[in-house]
Amino acid sequence: MAADREGGEEYNMARYTGPVCRRCRRLGDKLMLKGERCATPKCPVEKRNVPPGGQPRGRRRTVISDRGLQLREKQKVRWSYGVLERQFRRFYAEARKGPSTAGENLLALLERRLDNVVYRLGFADSRAQARQIVRHGHILVNDKKTDIPSFLVKAGDVIKWREASIKTEHYKRVAEEIEEASVPSWLSLDKESMTGKVLNLPGKDDIEAVFDEKAVVEFYSR
Ligand code: SF4
Repeated sequence: MAADREGGEEYNMARYTGPVCRRCRRLGDKLMLKGERCATPKCPVEKRNVPPGGQPRGRRRTVISDRGLQLREKQKVRWSYGVLERQFRRFYAEARKGPSTAGENLLALLERRLDNVVYRLGFADSRAQARQIVRHGHILVNDKKTDIPSFLVKAGDVIKWREASIKTEHYKRVAEEIEEASVPSWLSLDKESMTGKVLNLPGKDDIEAVFDEKAVVEFYSR
């Protein structure tokens, strides 16, 4: 299996298969990659914020270069959305042609991914789980089975579960618990029919995580 190193972390060229909490510990930031567990005291960043193989933060003074900070921010965005480097670069190239700044366009494109929309609608606990749900063909977009996680939704698209999928245990649990879910303003959710709709394309204010997208642009501008 071809392997590469990025940000000091080994990953195979297909998809990272190591413990995801390691990524949060590396950045010292909560990327919310594990669903429910992230909001509990079991989260390793909450318990003891120590980088993998390192000393507790603050005990050692480390100076991070501008380039290092830009790389860190890029990783934060990429890992949060669970996108491979090659795909992330493609998104960035596309973002440079968009109507707003490249950074804002990039975040908007990532938000429009179908796996992210499934997550935002509350159909999954994490983006990784949402990606699996999409890949396994449980989701319809405008009544058409769509099993490509990177599919980009557009205004007016209707996202719902396939008829056969409403028998799954996961669906039943989500349908029960989704009452408390709150969807971002660019989406709407009909809880009765478990159907989501894209009201408009997302803007920067719709993205709940705090990213320094300018640093990501600077990283790729070199
Ligand atoms: Fe990150 Fe969630 Fe693991 Fe905490 S529990 S380290 S937020 S993935």
